[in-house]
Amino acid sequence: MQIVTSPVELQKICLKWRCEGIKVGIVPTMGYFHEGHKNLMRIAREKADKLIVSLFVNPTQFGENEDLDAYPSNHEGDAADAKALGADILFIPEPGSMYADDHATWVEVPQLAQGLCSATRPTHFRGVSTVVTKLLILTLPEYAVFGEKDWQQLAIIRRLTRDLNLPTTIINGPLIREKDGLAMSSRNAYLTQEEREQASHINAGIRAGAEAFEAGERNVEKLKDVIRAHWKQHLPLGKEDYLEFIDPDSIEPVSTITDKARCAVAVYVGKARLLDNWPFYL
Ligand code: AMP
Repeated sequence: MQIVTSPVELQKICLKWRCEGIKVGIVPTMGYFHEGHKNLMRIAREKADKLIVSLFVNPTQFGENEDLDAYPSNHEGDAADAKALGADILFIPEPGSMYADDHATWVEVPQLAQGLCSATRPTHFRGVSTVVTKLLILTLPEYAVFGEKDWQQLAIIRRLTRDLNLPTTIINGPLIREKDGLAMSSRNAYLTQEEREQASHINAGIRAGAEAFEAGERNVEKLKDVIRAHWKQHLPLGKEDYLEFIDPDSIEPVSTITDKARCAVAVYVGKARLLDNWPFYL
């Protein structure tokens, strides 16, 4: 496995591969790998001739007063994992190499970057969309794999890839969970033991809602009441950022589930802001 730190060098290699008909798969990440990341790498490895894993804590997707400087990092461990999973290139851009000082071009998908994470992180998806577009242009991959943990992000990336005619197929990787249901996240490292124990109830609450749905409840406000009642009892350290039921493709909120909806949540637990989502499909 080659470690590449220069975007220009990465582009050179990938243009050559593309000309030779070699199919690239990319897994963009911010590092501190867990099973969720590793599973995306396995999916890409299986589909593509060459696997590129990128590791870049993208400053433009963090707001002021967010955890950019505290974001957990383990480059050595990550490199070992990527190598073990068959990566051909681990791309760790040198600081400053991804954005020129006078960088002024942004990719935005405002229709999908509304509500949910955008409500508390208004510039987040502009940063994500821009960096993902840059990575896809640099590497011109056949496949790019993103996790379903970040449902809104995945919808935005699918849309920008289509709208900008990028020559890449976006593949969903399933949301990987801890045994107790907590969605794996690099940010779980911020949790104290007590917070970690309670954090499993983010998902347990959603599943209580899913049970009510299975029993016939279709009214979203009633389903939210069930979820919030569970959280109130079992997750006193949690503070809801949002709890929404959305159309899985348009990300628009729904009030009654007539076909399929996705329950999407963000909950603050201690220093961490944790995401989860779950299908409520008829
Ligand atoms: P991150 O390093 O958190 O920016 O995530 C990099 C990629 O891994 C994104 O496509 C995420 O959606 C995905 N990812 C993170 N956590 C999980 C998880 N628990 N299950 C599946 N994919 C995940």
